[in-house]
Amino acid sequence: ARAAAGRAAFPASHLDRHPHELSGGLAQRAATALALVGDAPLLLADEPTTGLDRDLVERTVDELRAHTRADGRALLMITHDLAAAERIADTVAVMYAGRIVEIAPAGAFFGSPGPRHPYARGLLDALPERAFTPVPGAPPELGALPPGCAFAARCAAADPLCRTRRPMLTEGVACHHA
Ligand code: SF4
Repeated sequence: ARAAAGRAAFPASHLDRHPHELSGGLAQRAATALALVGDAPLLLADEPTTGLDRDLVERTVDELRAHTRADGRALLMITHDLAAAERIADTVAVMYAGRIVEIAPAGAFFGSPGPRHPYARGLLDALPERAFTPVPGAPPELGALPPGCAFAARCAAADPLCRTRRPMLTEGVACHHA
């Protein structure tokens, strides 16, 4: 446990603290340490880098990757942090309005040829180190999704087909015009 705490940058001086005595960032690191102690074949990490500064983000994803790689474990990480995803992922799945709209090898997604779905392209274009251009508009209400593509109201490539028929995930992308 001490070794795992160290790998997760959790301070040894805080090992006897109660959860309510920890800040959000320290609680996050404690959760990572717990994951590193276990030997589960599959780790589910839900936003494991929230509240961490960039150095700790990189350390956390590197430790999670090393832990899963060591014994052939699998890791499913849910995140809004694209830099963390690029650092750790073998495969990237992008969700929009509750559905996977693109799934691709991380190298192809973050490198060449890049994302194929307009929303996924917009996510990368919104990064400060790229075009720094936000995706226009806002996501739809999940309880009132439009009949066609859920992204149509925000998509520059939308046409009548997009607004009437929902695109299915086909060969890794859910878009009529990818
Ligand atoms: S299906 Fe149409 S509206 Fe939806 S992402 Fe593709 S081009 Fe845009």
